[in-house]
This record gives sequence, structure tokens and C-alpha cells, in this order.
Amino acid sequence: MFNLFKLIANEFRALVFPGTCLKCRTLLTGKGESSLSSCYCTGCLGNELPHYIPPFCPCCGKVFTSRTGESHLCEDCLRRPPVVSRVRAAFEYKGVVREGIGQFKYNSRLSLARPFESCLFHAFGIYLAGKKIDLIVPIPLYFKKARQRGFNQSYLLVRNFVSLYREKYGIPPDWTIDAKGLVRVKQTSTQTGLDIVERRKNLKQAFKWKGRESLEGKSVLLVDDVYTTGATCDAAAGALTDAGADRVDALVLARA
Ligand SMILES: [Zn+2]
Ligand SMILES: [Zn+2]
Repeated sequence: MFNLFKLIANEFRALVFPGTCLKCRTLLTGKGESSLSSCYCTGCLGNELPHYIPPFCPCCGKVFTSRTGESHLCEDCLRRPPVVSRVRAAFEYKGVVREGIGQFKYNSRLSLARPFESCLFHAFGIYLAGKKIDLIVPIPLYFKKARQRGFNQSYLLVRNFVSLYREKYGIPPDWTIDAKGLVRVKQTSTQTGLDIVERRKNLKQAFKWKGRESLEGKSVLLVDDVYTTGATCDAAAGALTDAGADRVDALVLARA
């Protein structure tokens, strides 16, 4: 319930004080609502938004610290390939993006939803638009958490994907968005502070495909805000492949 007040307060603030930087509160020189510069001033955005660029692992999407050289499979994927076949992102999880995701998710700064969504769609266009995708599935929250937060951040990141696609490519996409079929059936304690083994254990059987549509032979694209160890995406992907999905990829706003 308390979150509802925060949501209303933020909407009210956005109405009364449109165009102030979320970080330093300086006035912004009004730009389109779908750009990050509608939420942060140039100073706070810096010249260095942590854009997600190669070289990275083609499988788990991990960015290599050495900015030279080719993309290649990372050690983790060679040793234990994840269930998700391909992870791609819009940003690396750092700087103003990391802070913004925190504001968006835990502080209900919903003015960030559209800008983040268009950044995610941009990454989709670069890395995934030409690939076989039948279904886009945002990672769900457990119902109690969804009720408490008042929104599912992953869904807000793909809500307008169909219209963004039509706008960009001039045709309707051949995928659909399904935000109801995948269900989080188990409340999991917070993942923060847990290592990968503990996270996996924590998330075992946390998701279930309850959609009416059969996933037999389908390619599914999972969407989440942040990818850290990949335990959440992998648990969700496991539920989708159990339900017959052929292949599961993931697109996230930020890759840690
Ligand atoms: Zn600022
Ligand atoms: Zn990897």
C-alpha cells in the first residue's frame, strides 16, 4: 500500500516540477520524453553513458574488461553453459544507469520507464531484431511483491515494444508480448549478498509456465532490468524449456 503514495507523490512532482534532473535537480532544457536526457542533465549523464558494446561473451553477454580483442565464450560459459542461449543488454550496470535503475525500481521514478524502454528497444534493434523470436516474456514478480511495488519494472520495459517496432520498421512484428503466461510461484528471499550457487538454490522452481499457448518449438525472449549472475534468467528459462520452448534468449536493460 505505502508504495501507492510514493507513486502518486512522484507523479505529482513530475506534474508540478517537470524537467528537473532526477539527480541534481537542475532545470532541463525540455527534450522528448523517451530520451534519458528528459530525466537527467547533461552533467549527470556525463559523456560516458555505459553503453553495452563488444567485446562480450556471445552466450552470457558478459563484457570483457579489455576493450580490445574479439568476442569469445567466457570461462563460465565454457565450464557450465547457462540455459539462456544469448544475453544482450542496453547498458553495463554502472554509473548513472545503475543509479537510475535503483530510482526506477525502488523509488518508483516512473518517468524513467519510457527512456529506459527506448534504450532497450534500441539494443533490441542492434542485437535481436533479425533473429527468430516468437514470444517476448518479461520476468514476472511474485504477486505480493507486484502488489507492494505497484508495477513490474520488466513489463514497463517492453510495454510499447509493438508500437516502437511498427514505428521503426513500418510493419507489425512477428512476435507477441506475453506478460501473464510465466508466473513466479515462489516468493524468494532477496538475492543480494548471495553467491551464484545460493542464488540458484534460492530460485529453484520459482517460475512456472501457465500460459494457454503451447511453447513447443518456440523461441522466447526474456526481458529483465538487470542481469547479474544470471540465476533469475536461468530459472525462468528453465521453466520455459520445461514447457517445450526450443530456445530462450534474454534482453536486459543492464548487464552487470
Ligand atoms: Zn543533474
Ligand atoms: Zn559467458
